[in-house]
Amino acid sequence: MARIGFIGLGNMGGPMAANLVKAGHEVAGFDLVPFLCDEARKAGLAVTDSARAAAQGRDVVITMLPAGAHVRSCWQDIVPVAAQGTLMIDCSTIDVDSARAAHDVAATAGLASIDAPVSGGTGGAKAGTLTFMCGGTSEALARATPLLENMGRKIVNCGAAGSGQAAKICNNMILGATMVATAEAFVLAESLGLSHRALFDVASTSSGQSWSLTSYCPVPELVPASPANHDYKPGFAAALMLKDLKLAQQAAQASGATTPMGAVALQLFQLFAANGHAGDDFSGIINMLRGH
Ligand code: NAD
Repeated sequence: MARIGFIGLGNMGGPMAANLVKAGHEVAGFDLVPFLCDEARKAGLAVTDSARAAAQGRDVVITMLPAGAHVRSCWQDIVPVAAQGTLMIDCSTIDVDSARAAHDVAATAGLASIDAPVSGGTGGAKAGTLTFMCGGTSEALARATPLLENMGRKIVNCGAAGSGQAAKICNNMILGATMVATAEAFVLAESLGLSHRALFDVASTSSGQSWSLTSYCPVPELVPASPANHDYKPGFAAALMLKDLKLAQQAAQASGATTPMGAVALQLFQLFAANGHAGDDFSGIINMLRGH
């Protein structure tokens, strides 16, 4: 049993912290939103009145926050009060530079840390089936692994500090681009008089196969878990895809990588979100491609 501080109890952090309680850990939590603190209390967390209080006297501190600026300022606030030996884990999806800056804050205070962004969405957070993509030293990851296993099914060692975030944005750039490509193929099939089923049966067993097609098909009635079956209720909201595609382009510019497909996917999701669909599942972009 570990003493854990958990900061950021939103859509992802709330159920992740609840799974740590279920696994028998003593978890103290904090969020800026009082309603979320009430929910966390019901799940068995000891709610504190500040992030600092959640971080004091713990074996491990986990943050699950919206963006890089939140993580940087939170870690600057809490690392100085964390006990020597505390392991710091950030599970938010943030830019690689902010992840490395957070590692530096921890290292300066003599604390071990990993970046461990997740995939699997709110469903995976509740079910404890997330994938963690981890960056940091092997020693820090070895300490984190038993806890991450309480919240997820797959833990991948991606390399040095910041590599977890790098893997996350590369993966989601593939996802954004393949979803647009898959949706476009269905739109073209429609205008050629080819049925959804025929395209699916061919592409799902041919070279057009991808997760976007076979696990998350943008047209209804072909894949059971597809948000298309529920009028594109998320799922994975377009606003979150937009965030990840922006992070990918920011990283590409900073590192000099050429990523034109990622850039086009970003523009398309910007347009989709600006048209009032930021809260829809990202696969709903097929309706925009149809001209709706
Ligand atoms: P969320 O907005 O529901 O939760 C973030 C929480 O952080 C909010 O409740 C907010 O009040 C809290 N917060 C912000 N600053 C704080 C501070 N200083 N102290 C305490 N609490 C603070 O977002 P989410 O959906 O839970 O996502 C969290 C992270 O996980 C994001 O980086 C997101 O990109 C990533 N992510 C989300 C999903 C998803 O499907 N929702 C999937 C994978 C990754």
